[in-house]
Amino acid sequence: MLLYNTKTRKKEEFIPLEEGKLKLYACGPTVYNYFHIGNARAFLFFDVVRRYFEYLGYEVSYVQNITDIDDKIIEQAIAENTDFKTIADKYSEAFLEDTDALGIKRPHFQPRATEVMPQIIALIHDLQQKGFAYEVEGDVYFDTAALPEYGSLSGKQIEDQKAGARVAENIQKKHPADFTLWKKSKPGEPVWDSPWGEGRPGWHTECVVMSQHHLGQSFDIHGGGIDLVFPHHENENAQALALSGKPLARYWMHNGFLNMEGEKMSKSLDNFITARDILKQYDAEAIRFFFLSKHYRSPIDFNRELIIESDKAVDNFYKALAGIGMDSLDENPVSSPEILAHEESFQDSMNDDFNTAKAIATLFELANITRSANNELPLRQDAAKMLLKLGRTLGFFKDPEKRLTEEIPDLSKALVEMMLNYRNDARERKDWALADKIRNDLLALGIEIKDSPEGSTWNMRK
Ligand code: AMP
Ligand code: ZN
Repeated sequence: MLLYNTKTRKKEEFIPLEEGKLKLYACGPTVYNYFHIGNARAFLFFDVVRRYFEYLGYEVSYVQNITDIDDKIIEQAIAENTDFKTIADKYSEAFLEDTDALGIKRPHFQPRATEVMPQIIALIHDLQQKGFAYEVEGDVYFDTAALPEYGSLSGKQIEDQKAGARVAENIQKKHPADFTLWKKSKPGEPVWDSPWGEGRPGWHTECVVMSQHHLGQSFDIHGGGIDLVFPHHENENAQALALSGKPLARYWMHNGFLNMEGEKMSKSLDNFITARDILKQYDAEAIRFFFLSKHYRSPIDFNRELIIESDKAVDNFYKALAGIGMDSLDENPVSSPEILAHEESFQDSMNDDFNTAKAIATLFELANITRSANNELPLRQDAAKMLLKLGRTLGFFKDPEKRLTEEIPDLSKALVEMMLNYRNDARERKDWALADKIRNDLLALGIEIKDSPEGSTWNMRK
């Protein structure tokens, strides 16, 4: 399997540290608000990485942290007139609800920064003992000049930093690139006791502690969005290198941005849509399809038409399954060579740095074989089984039985009822042209209206 490693800027053969096992860490949310669909892109992609390794038979340990103490959480607590813990709990809960709704499998471990404070303090202390950290009046900084490899992940030269840095940035630091390990608290902020006085940790240290706690000193893959390469991941890696001489992870994978009219979707630009809101409008699998139909490293522009197209494509998969009848699929493994060849090409695509767009093309082919009445039934059944298996590997088909039997979603129902009311108003006004137009337009969508003396009813045309 080839993976693009941000560290080397090349596709590299994936070799696990321990055979048959994958140790994966991806940076999770800072829980101060509902997460947006840009964040969802990152969460969905690493869900697919995890699923694919599981499909290949790996024993996967997937860790995703929850950052539950941060400046932004404190600011939000002030805005909502409450304490930081209430905010962190509220939005952690919302994070779990929304990732569940997106069909993201819960990671094996979801540690929270505030649960590992003693380990964080011990790590910073250790860095200080080894000569990689210095304290200035209750703040502790990482001494980047003490680590020759600093910059090796992002390719940034420490000198670049100096040239670009603003003079007034922080007079306490020895070097502009030095980053905070421990931050003295301001009055009224949450605090933890430490050898440097009361304060709280920096974000970069939290992730090192939480990943190493579950996965060991060095693990296979570290992931996140491309914005995290520098400084966050550089700084995480620097601490690991300083402590043990070993990099934190062997492969560093980063997803591209979800953009809004060419600009990164982000809270600070206020150009975001929350996952929670988008899920009120579109099906979770349509969102997943929308992201996976592009390569994970390419930027994607948010596009409603494409999400609607994606919804149709997913629906097409379901229709193929409905056509064959899910209950006609037995437990026997797929035996048709033609279908097994499709599985191979799916793997070839995924093994080429997670080319999900190409892998999805294989799903289309399988759906077509399933649907084609010209094919023998056993072939069609094998195609359906493979469609289910590979589709699930990408996170589709969460509950096909339910989806295939369920009626049209509530929002659509409400909209049909609304159109019916408008049509009734038109009929009362004897505006027959409009009444007919509404009827015909609904019919074009497969919705049939029946008029009777008791009123009008509607149903989906079979
Ligand atoms: P945050 O809560 O901002 O730390 O982000 C959580 C995850 O979402 C990180 O992996 C980020 O890199 C990723 N992320 C943030 N914004 C975007 C975006 N617009 N597109 C893709 N990934 C993003
Ligand atoms: Zn992180």
